[in-house]
Amino acid sequence: MDGYASDFAGRAAVITGGASGIGLATATEFARRGARVMLADVDAAALQRAVANLQTEGIDAHGVTCDVRHLEEVVRLADQAFRLLGQVDVVFSNAGIVVAGPLVAMTHEDWRWVIDVDLWGSIHAVEAFVPRLIEQGNGGHIAFTASFAGLVPNTGLGAYGVAKYGVVGLAETLARELKEHGIGVSVLCPMVIETPLVANSERIRGADHEPASNPDPTEGFAPLPPTQDETVSVHNVARLTADAILANRLYILPHEAARASIKRRFDRIDRTFDDQAAEGWKH
Ligand code: NAD
Repeated sequence: MDGYASDFAGRAAVITGGASGIGLATATEFARRGARVMLADVDAAALQRAVANLQTEGIDAHGVTCDVRHLEEVVRLADQAFRLLGQVDVVFSNAGIVVAGPLVAMTHEDWRWVIDVDLWGSIHAVEAFVPRLIEQGNGGHIAFTASFAGLVPNTGLGAYGVAKYGVVGLAETLARELKEHGIGVSVLCPMVIETPLVANSERIRGADHEPASNPDPTEGFAPLPPTQDETVSVHNVARLTADAILANRLYILPHEAARASIKRRFDRIDRTFDDQAAEGWKH
């Protein structure tokens, strides 16, 4: 594709949550760099539009309707991917929703929904794809979209944070365990990126879940990152993600503004040893 590197040429990529936002931008980036792509999403209409738009650009794109909450649907996605693409080199487990509000206000259904999509969705990607990537014997890469909320606590995003901390843990352990197979792992942890995430989340809330406890899902959202990072577009995130996969970088951190908060969390953990010692605690 004109003006693009061809460093994904010959690769086949599967992207969940591929019909919108970060997933669609990243699928487009992979494809413009030469990959064949399979987009998966629970929103069949948006998926159809996204795939048609990519095909208009001359991109080899496929769409599979898939709800990542259900293992059998993600296994079916893997079957389709290996059948239609012939191989899978990159899996991007990105599908997600957000539930906002203080922890004490979360209903059981809020918890179920956010953990089902944001944590189980990524666990299902591991279950469905990783054994087959190992069996394929060609290396490859699995990337996950977690969040800044998966690295530090964000007031008003606690349940979401629990799911996203889980995704970070999944990726970090997997990176160690898959090294011997030559399979790379990355985890994307952005602050706010302009996408329809909040609106989409409520719209697609599944039939087997009650409506959100919080009628305004933007209420309680962490403050927007400082102005220096307002320029991080979904396209820049997509570019950084593709580059991180090629470089086999574990963490993908598009917002420099996240740095101070991440450091404060680890400093606080570290300082606890000094505080305990100062109070005379010994083994
Ligand atoms: P988006 O709504 O534009 O895209 C998410 C896509 O996931 C949608 O197409 C949606 O239909 C799909 N999806 C939702 N539930 C699904 C399910 N059960 N099965 C399959 N597909 C499903 O939003 P986005 O901002 O691009 O979100 C992508 C990822 O980025 C999410 O995991 C989100 O938590 C994460 N994230 C977003 C931001 C942000 O500010 N936008 C910040 C940090 C992390």
